[in-house]
Amino acid sequence: MKCRRCRRPAVVEVRRHNAAFCRPCFLHHVREQVRRAIARHDLIRPEDRVLVAVSGGKDSLALWDLLLELGYEADGLYLGLGIGEYSARSGEVARAFARSRGVTLVEVDLAREYGFDVPTAGRRGSRSTCAVCGLSKRYVFNRAALEGGYDVIATGHNLDDEAATLLGNTLRWQTEYMARQSPLLPSEPGFVKKVKPLYRVSELETAAYAFLRGIDYVVEECPLVAGNTQLRYKQAMNQLEQASPGTKAQFLLGYLERAAALFAAEDRSELRPCERCGQPTPGRFCAFCRARAQVLGERLEPVTDRELAHESSEEVLPAEVYGPAAVGGRPS
Ligand code: SF4
Ligand SMILES: [Zn+2]
Ligand SMILES: [Zn+2]
Repeated sequence: MKCRRCRRPAVVEVRRHNAAFCRPCFLHHVREQVRRAIARHDLIRPEDRVLVAVSGGKDSLALWDLLLELGYEADGLYLGLGIGEYSARSGEVARAFARSRGVTLVEVDLAREYGFDVPTAGRRGSRSTCAVCGLSKRYVFNRAALEGGYDVIATGHNLDDEAATLLGNTLRWQTEYMARQSPLLPSEPGFVKKVKPLYRVSELETAAYAFLRGIDYVVEECPLVAGNTQLRYKQAMNQLEQASPGTKAQFLLGYLERAAALFAAEDRSELRPCERCGQPTPGRFCAFCRARAQVLGERLEPVTDRELAHESSEEVLPAEVYGPAAVGGRPS
């Protein structure tokens, strides 16, 4: 196989583009996809201070590397979830990356800062482990970005993540979530802008990028992933992609270009400050404070019908696979 760009021997095949690339041309190809995604949706301005949500997995580390390569001022944020060896190794890998590039890694430990870890929350609360994990990530990323004065939070959601989330939301016609499925969630009072610069890059491409750049990342999956509903959608999309390369991209990019606008009016939650932590929420207390109170055995009374309705809708939130599990939504 020859490189599409320079005709030297290729090392990576990208079936959906019906192309193969040598190492330098593949790295160029990924960088270009990210650069174009940023330019197309005005994701990051040159002067922005970016906070990259770093899990220690390939996507978030590849993203951090790419943003630094493209010349952005980008710090990392690592959230310690307390998932045994897995979290310990993830933290080490994130720290090693920061050291190797001479950049800042902000660290937050869920147990130290908020009094619970993800496995305990999964056992004690009414939400699934992945739901409470995703909720905590969204909350902490936003709060850390606000407190650190960052302009934008970047997460490593790739094409596969986004296509799987869209499939899950479409199967259930969760139009409010569909309305917020975008590479860009603009800033709002209390919410820092959130972007997904890898939304056009497949999981195979981010893995190849990380490998070719010599990035050490955590290969093992989170041991709690078994209950993660998004995995099923990923597997279904992979089967379709196998039979017909390009399906994921057609599904996701076609939605963003042609259908997303149809659902824009569905995003209509009115927000006010959480009475406990001050973060914006549709109810009296934000979902994070309610989840935390439940895990710690505290009561946040009274709970209104609206909060209960919101609570039950959260249970079907597509749980994110790993990493930037800061789903598409905002902290609620
Ligand atoms: S699989 Fe992902 S979302 Fe679920 S607990 Fe593990 S890190 Fe959190
Ligand atoms: Zn080449
Ligand atoms: Zn709160």
